[in-house]
Parts: sequence; C-alpha cells; structure tokens
Amino acid sequence: MTGFPSHLVRDDLRDFTGYSSARTSSAAIAAPARIWLNANESGLPSQADPDGHSRRYPDPQPSMLVDAFADLWATTPDRIVVGRGSDEMIELLVRALCRPGADAMVVSSPTFGMYAVSARLHGVPVVDVRQHEDELTWRVDTDAVREAAVEAGAKIVFLASPGNPTGSVVPLRELADLADALADQAVLVVDEAYGEFAQQRSAATLIEEHPTLVVLRTLSKAHALAGARIGIALAHPDLATVLRRVQAPYPLSVPATELALAALTESALAATHRRVMETVGLREVVARQLRDLPGIRAVYASEANFLLLRSDDPDALLHTLISAGIVVRDLRHLPGLQDALRITIGTSLEMSAINHVLGEESA
Ligand SMILES: *Cc1c(COP(=O)(O)O)cnc(C)c1O
Repeated sequence: MTGFPSHLVRDDLRDFTGYSSARTSSAAIAAPARIWLNANESGLPSQADPDGHSRRYPDPQPSMLVDAFADLWATTPDRIVVGRGSDEMIELLVRALCRPGADAMVVSSPTFGMYAVSARLHGVPVVDVRQHEDELTWRVDTDAVREAAVEAGAKIVFLASPGNPTGSVVPLRELADLADALADQAVLVVDEAYGEFAQQRSAATLIEEHPTLVVLRTLSKAHALAGARIGIALAHPDLATVLRRVQAPYPLSVPATELALAALTESALAATHRRVMETVGLREVVARQLRDLPGIRAVYASEANFLLLRSDDPDALLHTLISAGIVVRDLRHLPGLQDALRITIGTSLEMSAINHVLGEESA
C-alpha cells in the first residue's frame, strides 16, 4: 500500500487521539464483559423506545454500516468514515488538514456552498478557480486548479463531480493526475453526492492507487435519506484514522444507522437503482421540454438529479413558478449566475406540473 504523507495533517493534531469514549476505550478486562456500568446510561429502556435500541451510546463507527459501505464501494472498512452527512465529512477534512488562518483551500465555482462555509468557520482562506462553460457543459480547469493550489500552498482541493449546481463531471483521469501532482502538498476531495446519477465510474475506484484522494458519498440524494443525515468519506486508512479522531464522539444515532442499513440491503439498492434510472430518464425529457420554451436561454447538460438553466427573465420565471406553489433554487446571488435557477428532478407528476405551468405561461 502506498503511504499517506502524514505531514499533510495539521502538525498540532498529528498525535491527537481524540475523546476516549465509553465505546472506544477498551480497558483490559479479565473476563468477558457482562454488565455495562461505564457510561452512565439508563439501566431500563425509555417508554419511547420499549425495545431499548437507543438506550445505550452507539458504536462511534457502527461496524455493520461501515462493512456495508465497504462492500458497496468494493473497498476495505479501514478506508471508510461515516458521519452526519457529507457536510460533516467536509468539516472534518478542513479541521484535520488546515491550520486556522494559515492553510488555504481551493474550490472551483460555481460549486457547493458548504466548502466555503467550512473554510470560513475554520478561518481558512478560499482560492476560487472559476469553471468554464463549453457549449452547455461546465468544465473544471484542473491545470489551473493545480497551479492555484501550488501558488496558495493549499492543503485541500474540493471538487464536486457531478458538480452542484453545474451537473457536470470531472474526468477520472484528470482527478487522478491532479491528486498525484499535488500529493506532497494537498488532499484532493472528490465530492460524489450525485455519483449515482453519473455515467462515469466512481473515483472510489482510484483511492487505493492515489493515497491523497478522498471521495465523499451520501445517502441524501439517490438513496432518498436526506433526513437520516448519513455521509461517508472514503480515504487512505491513515487519513481515515485522523478523521475519526477529530470527529465528535457518537456521530450517528441508532435510528439513523438502522435506516441506513435498511437502505443498503440488496432489494433496497435495487429499488434505488430503479429510481435513479427513472430520474435520469425524466431529466432528459424535462431538459428537452425546457429547451423548447421561449425565454429559456440555456439548459445545461446534467449528470445529476437537477437541471441548471438560464432565463431571459428570471424574475418572471420564478414568479410564475412560485405563484403555482412550485419552489426551485434561485441562484441569482451567485457570481455569473444572475439569470440562473436550479430545478430538482422530482416525480413525473411534479415535472408535469412544471411543464404545465410554464407551457401555459408561454401559450
Ligand atoms: C447535497 C450535497 C451534499 C450532501 O450533503 P449531505 O450533508 O450528505 O446531505 C454534498 N455535496 C454536494 C455537492 C451536494 O450537492
């Protein structure tokens, strides 16, 4: 196994072992443990939880869930970190790698807002390398990202692929090359929140060969469990260890873990796959319908479960949709997107409603 360069971890955290919780500290016990009185939990269950599933503190990294994710992405459990959504994974990466006020990160906008939020909360400067539009596809300029990262001495690069709100992917070859080019300096984080909707295979297939590449996944989008707050980082085992140490003690609640496990059975995964196929089919139908409407200037190619579009009159378009009770994402506050909206691909009924409302308006 290729090593993870330990100097990428914040020097003041390199030997930090984290909180020693009742579940992580395994005191040398002479006999098999029978009676657990070390965590101040209630001896009897709550009326709200008669079977007592939630009576005790959970395993900080529930081993059945970690194993299920390792199976899903054909990797080993030591490369898996689970937590409260990919949002927490972003936070852990910034916390573990960037010295506040000193180390920078690179992003490529338009992109997911949480990278900058985490940076702000940690006092980490953000260098932005804007994406280009090439016909109706957005492109991350990975050469420019590399140069910016070197120049800023950045410790992390965050790229979403498929991107939000761009919907476009960064080719795997470019991700691998970028990770290698920056390997002695920065971690490349590939956020695959929409990976299930994309054609390209997952960058998770690259992590064993590229120790400084981290992949983020989530159950919030294709798996339809946004409310359960389950996110996953796939990383080199040494980095995964550091991320677990800087994480809050019991990130996943027992009910959330139970939901996640139920979503990873063979039949649930098959049902998720069918939903994804439907969404992808519907996305292409809706994209064509939108392109036919007057006043819609661009509908970008998407490999995710949403469409990004530009309108000649975004105010009127938003007003029409809101008046019909349809809420889409207004992106007009973002640089270069003053005329743009993002529409999630919902059910076919919801998409018919959009088509009906906009078709009527232009009739
Ligand atoms: C929605 C989204 C996430 C998901 O975050 P969770 O915290 O897992 O719900 C992560 N990254 C991007 C780019 C997203 O759009």
